[in-house]
Amino acid sequence: MSQVQRESMEYDVVIVGAGPSGLSAAIRLKQLDPDLSVVVLEKGSEVGAHILSGAVLDTCGLDALLPEWRTMDAPIKTAVKEDNFYILGPAGKVRIPNWPMPPLMNNHGKYIVSMANVCRWMAQVAEGLGVEIFPGMSCSELVYDGDRVAGVVAGEFGRDPETGEPGPSYEPGMELRGKYVFLGEGVRGSLAKEIIAKYDLSKGHEPQKFGLGMKEIWEIDPAKHKLGTVTHTMGWPLGSNAGGGSFIYHLENNQVYVGFVVHLNYKNPYLYPYMEFQRFKHHPMVAALLEGGKRVAYGARAISEGGYQSMPKMVAPGVALLGCSVGMVNVPRIKGNHNAMLSGKAAAEAAHAAIKAGRMGDELSDYETEVRTGAIGKDLKKVRNVKPLWSKYGLVASLMGGGADMWLNTIGLTLFGTLKHGKTDAAATGKAKDYKPIDYPKPDGKLSFDRLTNVAFSFTNHDENQPAHLKLKDPSVPIRVNLPEYAEPAQRYCPAGVYEVLGEGAEATFRINFQNCVHCKTCDIKDPSQNINWTTPMGGGGPNYPNM
Ligand SMILES: Cc1cc2nc3c(=O)[nH]c(=O)nc-3n(C[C@H](O)[C@H](O)[C@H](O)COP(=O)(O)OP(=O)(O)OC[C@H]3O[C@@H](n4cnc5c(N)ncnc54)[C@H](O)[C@@H]3O)c2cc1C
Repeated sequence: MSQVQRESMEYDVVIVGAGPSGLSAAIRLKQLDPDLSVVVLEKGSEVGAHILSGAVLDTCGLDALLPEWRTMDAPIKTAVKEDNFYILGPAGKVRIPNWPMPPLMNNHGKYIVSMANVCRWMAQVAEGLGVEIFPGMSCSELVYDGDRVAGVVAGEFGRDPETGEPGPSYEPGMELRGKYVFLGEGVRGSLAKEIIAKYDLSKGHEPQKFGLGMKEIWEIDPAKHKLGTVTHTMGWPLGSNAGGGSFIYHLENNQVYVGFVVHLNYKNPYLYPYMEFQRFKHHPMVAALLEGGKRVAYGARAISEGGYQSMPKMVAPGVALLGCSVGMVNVPRIKGNHNAMLSGKAAAEAAHAAIKAGRMGDELSDYETEVRTGAIGKDLKKVRNVKPLWSKYGLVASLMGGGADMWLNTIGLTLFGTLKHGKTDAAATGKAKDYKPIDYPKPDGKLSFDRLTNVAFSFTNHDENQPAHLKLKDPSVPIRVNLPEYAEPAQRYCPAGVYEVLGEGAEATFRINFQNCVHCKTCDIKDPSQNINWTTPMGGGGPNYPNM
């Protein structure tokens, strides 16, 4: 490709991603020194457009960042009043009482929120402190100075989809350079992926593990709505096919978040996570709640699940990875926003100290130490064996063994030391010849919906004239390798129907409908041949989530 000339702007700190981690970093930097220049770049059309958390928010991160948030008209109003946990069978349920649960699993004192709205509010707070926030700015490239990261390229668009060369409406974007660059891209960040590979940051750590989270917002019959109720389930419909479970949170305005997570280390390549979610809504307990209501939004996003032992090294010269770009979700609690906020705060404090001492472009090792040994490390260490136990021995063993281990860990003891995860989720995928196709019931259009109809409710768009951001390393692999070996699982694991196999036998072709992509990153994670590279779309686009 031809060399491009770009204007550049200099900042003290350049932050990629206006999620809870990036915005917390921005706020903390300005709290520490209002004269620091700080910019936040967000690929969503507005802050919050790509944010999909559940969410039950543990406010410990916010308490540390903005202790006075309760007087700041934050969109954090619905305290959890009721906390239920069920194991489902096909038609029935067993309630697990709250008393044997380790204290960390208790949701009382937490809040049901739209994290998209919380991020919109945090962005206002940040702008009030003087942070520059630019939505609609995809950061598609890193800028290096020798061996150090010195900035990012943002806002480039108009390359020819075929040749990759600048087209007639080409805009080169800007180079935004910083003394430090923070990557708060969330799970499987594409720039973070480049940094992890370039500086070999995963060396000595377990592979990262992931789940696929899908979520709908429903408006339900007010008579059935119970503001502040949180319900989690495990068991049916996944059974022994995959780990995972559901969440149902009652928020304001008679709305309910209905979400479903499938662990991506499932073996059967015929498993269809989206259809598992749709099937789940037909369970009598869920159907009774949703009947008569309407689905108003849909979205999907991967969730990091590797936890403590999978966090890569998170600093390299000039750059720090924040939040779920590292993977800071506490899996049994399905919570990562609090750690994302704490990580942003810690990175900001390390960068502020470094800049004050006249440093730039080096490794912020104090940040890494704080994450591993401070509140985040402590939170994740207690639960580090739950996911490996679940992966190896299934749901019951993880509930009993993982539960006992979590209890012991609250007093600093453990039954298992630190268990390993072993394989990546891609490598966990089994061969089609060893499994049977799964027969999923057809969506009824009332409780369950076909994939493309639902994608319309994510309000996703990409300009069809922009280059496809889903890149195949070898275009022949889907049909030559993945189809015969794995029945090309991309057709099923993608929750937005991006990947299709058309025709059969020698006529078979692979189609990528990149315009539908909801930026969940599952393809980049689960493709058994690791042949799909999810890159940040040049030209922007993606979902436009309302109050997810
Ligand atoms: C289904 C589901 C349910 C969850 N439920 C909960 C819950 O109930 N409670 C909880 O605490 N946590 C929950 N989590 C986890 C939580 O969402 C994450 O821990 C949290 O979002 C991590 O914050 P982050 O700032 O690291 O990344 P994100 O929140 O993902 O934010 C990243 C931001 O960066 C932007 N971005 C990414 N790459 C680029 C780029 N190259 N250029 C420009 N912008 C970019 C994205 O558009 C996005 O806005 C859930 C996650 C999922 C998927």
